[in-house]
Amino acid sequence: MLASVILKPKRAQPFYGRHPWVFAGAVERVDGSPADGDEVSLRSSAGNFVARGLFNSQSKIVVRLYSWDEDRPIDRDFLRDRLADAVRLRHQILGLDRGKASAYRVCFSEADRLSGLVVDRYGEWLTVQFTALGLANRRDTIAAVLAELLQPRGIFLRTEKGIGKLEGCELHDGPLWGEPPPAEHLIEEDGLTFAVNLAEGQKTGYYLDQRDNRSAVARFCTGKRVLDAFSYSGGFGVRAAKAGAATVDCVDASEAALALARRNAALNGVANLTTTKADVFNHLATLAAEKREYDVVILDPPKFARNRAAVPEALKGYRRLHQLALKLLARDGLLVSCCCTGLIQMADLEEIVAQTAIDSKRDAQILERRGPSADHPVSVACREGGYLKCIVSRVI
Ligand code: SAH
Repeated sequence: MLASVILKPKRAQPFYGRHPWVFAGAVERVDGSPADGDEVSLRSSAGNFVARGLFNSQSKIVVRLYSWDEDRPIDRDFLRDRLADAVRLRHQILGLDRGKASAYRVCFSEADRLSGLVVDRYGEWLTVQFTALGLANRRDTIAAVLAELLQPRGIFLRTEKGIGKLEGCELHDGPLWGEPPPAEHLIEEDGLTFAVNLAEGQKTGYYLDQRDNRSAVARFCTGKRVLDAFSYSGGFGVRAAKAGAATVDCVDASEAALALARRNAALNGVANLTTTKADVFNHLATLAAEKREYDVVILDPPKFARNRAAVPEALKGYRRLHQLALKLLARDGLLVSCCCTGLIQMADLEEIVAQTAIDSKRDAQILERRGPSADHPVSVACREGGYLKCIVSRVI
């Protein structure tokens, strides 16, 4: 008999709606004594079955739900089906495998009904991240299933900062299955080549979520002076240069990121890309003081807020970035505003674009409201997963 987690009265509705996170506050009691990571059934206060999930007393999310079928345990077969569904989506949207160089997100946690599991594919290598103890405990099974479905040369485990504390699990970066990846792995993005360091690069080596936004922006960059702020390995900048930009200036605080950006420029035969190691806020202010002008300014900062309390300060940061960028934008310039803070909505970002343009006495038009590439879907049951926004606007 599975242990049961019993909900407080009137708290079951989101879970019938297939939301996967059960917070401690919704729980009346636990019947049985499940260990952390064990499978449990979630029941309404009347004792009716709601869903099956994995228990973790150390997390704010005490149960993550995976199966709404009372007879379907969360075993190898179940995990295989879920991952096969995820792989099928990528084939559907990205076309058949493009072999050694194809790079895309294979599984995106709640969006693929596997809360706490992120899998990225970089050609023959996979990276896996666990943000849930229940799935982390099943990592060998998950690795074996991924190996079966995708036949990689190796699977490498990446850990997100702070996750040990949030979930109470000890995880360390390292090979999980097969061969370790090389220090430099080359991937392809719309015909361009990018070097990725899977073991040490930011995120899992590359910002796959921005792929389509990079293409969208590149097509406006021909003949333009482009500033790629928060450039990381030069994703936007190299794409812009390759699309015929007059000049591209990449700015990032990380020297390792900029070294990769220069490498990526070289790999693609781009000669007009410069890199500057600086804090973007300071650097934009310096450029403005020097009265420098750009035709395209791309702002792609890291996440500014991890919890609600941090949102007002984060909004201030975005506002400041926009104020500075507007000073640098030439007439008819394009402003690309990216925001990967999940707690800030598209409407908030629009408001920042609008307000800062008005304050700068500039007229602005929104050309495109964009999200992440389609290999980063959002589940209708857990729309909190939609974190990335990108607004392209023209400033007169
Ligand atoms: N546009 C990139 C992804 C950017 S990720 C792409 O398409 O691949 C955000 C980047 O911002 C990281 O590389 C990080 O090093 C950098 N960063 C964070 N805070 C910064 C700051 N205050 N000044 C400059 N760079 C910063």
